[in-house]
Amino acid sequence: MTKFLNFIDGAFVAGSGEAFENRFPTTGEVIGEVSAAGKAEVDAAVGAARAALAGPWGRMSVAERVGLLRKLADGINARFDEFLAAEIRDTGKPHSIASHIDIPRGAANFNVFADQILTASTETFEMATPDGAGALNYALRVPRGVIAVICPWNLPLLLMTWKVAPALACGNTVVVKPSEETPATATLLGEVMNAVGIPRGVYNVVHGQGPGAAGEFLTTHPDVDGITFTGETRTGEAIMRAAAAGVRPVSLELGGKNAGIIFDDADLEATLEGIGRACFANTGQVCLGTERLYVQRGIFDRLVEGLAAKARSYRFGDPFDPATTMGPLISAEHREKVLSYYAKARADGATLLAGGGVPELQGFEGGYWVEPTVWTGLPETSPVVSEEIFGPCTHVTPFDSEEEALMLANDSPYGLATSIWTTNLSRAHRVARGIEVGIVWVNCWFLRDLRTPFGGAKASGIGREGGLHSLEFYTELRNVCVKL
Ligand code: NAD
Repeated sequence: MTKFLNFIDGAFVAGSGEAFENRFPTTGEVIGEVSAAGKAEVDAAVGAARAALAGPWGRMSVAERVGLLRKLADGINARFDEFLAAEIRDTGKPHSIASHIDIPRGAANFNVFADQILTASTETFEMATPDGAGALNYALRVPRGVIAVICPWNLPLLLMTWKVAPALACGNTVVVKPSEETPATATLLGEVMNAVGIPRGVYNVVHGQGPGAAGEFLTTHPDVDGITFTGETRTGEAIMRAAAAGVRPVSLELGGKNAGIIFDDADLEATLEGIGRACFANTGQVCLGTERLYVQRGIFDRLVEGLAAKARSYRFGDPFDPATTMGPLISAEHREKVLSYYAKARADGATLLAGGGVPELQGFEGGYWVEPTVWTGLPETSPVVSEEIFGPCTHVTPFDSEEEALMLANDSPYGLATSIWTTNLSRAHRVARGIEVGIVWVNCWFLRDLRTPFGGAKASGIGREGGLHSLEFYTELRNVCVKL
C-alpha cells in the first residue's frame, strides 16, 4: 500500500488532516493512503513558498531557471515508467493513452515554457517631453509571487505541469493541491524537484479535498498572490469568490458541453475517426470532449451508425495491457453521476444506438465501468443535452442549414471547444468566426500547439493559458519610465 505524503519545503511530511483512501478505478481496490494537509501544513507550505522567493530561487537568472526546467523534463523522462505506472494506478486509464499523452506532455510542458521564457519580450515606448530630451518606457516582467495551483483528476500530471512549468519559468513559487482522486504524480514530482536541484520551498504539494479542507485553506490563504484552477465551473465560482479577498488574480479553466458540427460534405471516414476520439477518449473524461453532436441531415444516418459502431469497438480491461483501449471512470461517485444521465436519457425517451449501461467484466467487477453510449432523439432542453456529464457519451441531433447548426451549438452557457467537420473551407472559416468558444478545431480534434491560446469563453473559464498567454498570468508587468 502506497502512502502519499505532502511535500513541503523540500521534505515529505504527514498532514494533520484526516487521511483518506486511494483506490484503483479498474477494480475499486484500495491501493494507497493519502495524508491530508490540515490548516497547519497549508500554512507551512505557503510560508515555505514565500521564503523561497527571497532565497536562491529569487536571485536566479532566467538562464539558470531554464536550465533547471530542462532538467525537470529530463528527470520525468528518466523515471517515465514510474510516472506512467503511478498515473495508471490513480486513474485506470489505458497504458496506450498515458504513455502517449499524459507523461510525455507532462515532461514536455517544462521544455515548452523554458523556450517561451527565453524568447519572451516586453514592450518599449519612446516618448517626447516638453524639454525635447524625451523619455523611455520599458516593461519589466516580474513574478507574481506565491501561486496556488488547484488541479483536477482527468489528466493529472499534464494539467498540473501545464501550470507549474510556466509559473516556475516566470520565477514564482507554487503550492499545488492535486485532486484528492489522483495524488500520485504530483507527489512523485517532488522527488524529481529535489533530485535536479530545485531549491526547497519552490514546489510544494498539499493533499486533501476541496471545501473545508486543503483546497479551501489554500485558496483563501491571504499570503497567496494568484490562483490558477482547472476543474468544474461551480468550483471555479467558489474559487473566484475566495480570490476576491485581497483582489488576487485567477486563471480559470472550467467545464464545457462541447459541440461537434458535421456537414454533409465532410470526409466521413476521417470524421468518424476524429469525432469518435472526441466523444470517447479517456472514457469521455476530457474537458474538450464532445457530448453534443450536430450532423447535417444528408449524412445523419450513416454518421450515427458509424459512431455507434465505434462506441461498440472499445476494449475494456487491464490498463497495463497494451490492447486495452478504454478504462473505467475515476470513481464510484462519478460513475453514479454518469449513470444518472444514462437513466435520465431513458426516462426522457432517447433512442439508444450503443451502450447505455455497465459492461460485465470478469475480474474487474469492483471497477467503475460504463459503456460508451450514443443517443439520438432528445430535445435540446434535456439535461442530457445541456449539462456536462463528463462520461463516454454523446447525443446526436440533425440539422439542415449552417445557421441552424450555429444556433444550436451556441445555445449553451458553456463555451470551451467546438470541432467543425467539412471540406468547404469558406464555410469552416465562417462557422469558426460565429461560434462562441475559446477553441475551434477544423477537421481535427485535440491537435495542440502549446504556444496557442487555450481556454474557454462564457462559463468555461476566464483567461488563456499556453505560450505567451501563460506568461501574462504568471508575471506582473511593471512599467519603468526613464526621463532622458
Ligand atoms: P472539481 O472542480 O471537482 O475539482 C477540481 C479541484 O478543485 C480538486 O483538486 C478539488 O479538490 C478542488 N476543489 C473543489 N472544491 C474546492 C473549493 N471549494 N476550494 C478549493 N478547491 C476546491 O473538478 P474535477 O471533478 O476534479 O474535474 C472535472 C472538471 O474539470 C470537469 O468539469 C471538466 O470539464 C473540468 N476540466 C476543465 C479543463 C479545462 O481546461 N477547461 C480541463 C480539465 C478538466
